[in-house]
Amino acid sequence: MGTLSNSFKIAVFEGDGIGPEITKPTLEILKSASSNYEGFSLDFEFLPAGAGHYRDTGSALPKESMDRARAADAILLSAIGLPDVRYKDGTEIRPQVDLRFNLDLYAGVRPVKIYPGAKCPLSDPRAKDIDFVLVRESTEGLFAHMHDGKVVDDQYATETLKITRSTSEKLFDFSFSLARQRAAEKGRPGKVTCVDKANIFRSFWFFRSIFEERAKSFPDVISDAAYVDAMAMWMVQKPWDFDILVTENMFGDILSDLGAGIMGSLGIAPSADIGDDHAVFQPCHGSAPDIAGQGVANPLAMILSAGMMMTWLGHQHGVPQLIECGQGIDDAVTRVLANERGLTRDLGGQLGTEECALAVLEALPSNG
Ligand code: ATP
Ligand code: MG
Repeated sequence: MGTLSNSFKIAVFEGDGIGPEITKPTLEILKSASSNYEGFSLDFEFLPAGAGHYRDTGSALPKESMDRARAADAILLSAIGLPDVRYKDGTEIRPQVDLRFNLDLYAGVRPVKIYPGAKCPLSDPRAKDIDFVLVRESTEGLFAHMHDGKVVDDQYATETLKITRSTSEKLFDFSFSLARQRAAEKGRPGKVTCVDKANIFRSFWFFRSIFEERAKSFPDVISDAAYVDAMAMWMVQKPWDFDILVTENMFGDILSDLGAGIMGSLGIAPSADIGDDHAVFQPCHGSAPDIAGQGVANPLAMILSAGMMMTWLGHQHGVPQLIECGQGIDDAVTRVLANERGLTRDLGGQLGTEECALAVLEALPSNG
């Protein structure tokens, strides 16, 4: 594993649609960015999975791919899915969900911040200060019993929502630690807001009471709580007030799209799904079949996800160069977006995928 040799194995799933188009330049950026540092190296292993693979072989995530992903130090997953390929029951191909459950990736991390050049739909001048992270519990909640939700008869259907103490404690500890880490980086106190519906549902009252218990172990981090309906409004009215929002799976699913909306484009929204020992990094967008093969997809969400992967590896293994490398990738993307000529079509610009990625490559710290 990484810590002994500081050579990190990265499992790469190229995905479907625009997936391979955005993966290729992302790996070039990772190679170039990491070549600027001594002390670690990356070793990429390409693994098959996805809708195309399901169509060809009947398996969306072969066991071999799963085993190798489990053995890797981190997993980089591109966009998955094709419009006309579905499981036999009619649901979407979802190896990303299988990875979350199989590797117990309980913390879904969605940073929401305003990059220059991105068209934030909020006109308030404070919108430029938006910089929060949504942490979505990703293995339980309303998705825990996804496979045994029932349409009982033509009059009645039911689903179950599950909250466990063990996962909730890990989720909250993760969120408070992330707040601490960001507070140290930004030189201001951290804050975690628990988002739930504790006024109506006993399961959410349980969720919030565990949150309040865990908060006591992080006295340096401010903690508060909000109901999800109010939070949906505040994410539009005063999103600059938040630091970390932590919530249940389904609420997080919905609020993370609201977050991507605030950012101005899906094309710049990265994500991570993190557990104790494993993590998957993936752009928030889908495989965009409508523009696949045209070379116009925005690669930045994928590149930012790769940057998050470097930062996570750095913290996980105590390698500061990796953290610096991850920050360098984020900074390079920020610089590219600040230049109006650096924008892809989804942001109103002219650049193709490769040109945009090349601009990021040139903006990396020691390539400038
Ligand atoms: P999924 O169900 O997998 O989330 P989806 O059908 O909801 O997929 P996407 O594949 O994310 O949606 O595409 C939604 C729209 O956003 C499409 O018009 C697509 O072209 C556009 N889009 C998504 N990702 C990008 C990108 N990286 N660059 C440019 N446009 C994108
Ligand atoms: Mg979608």
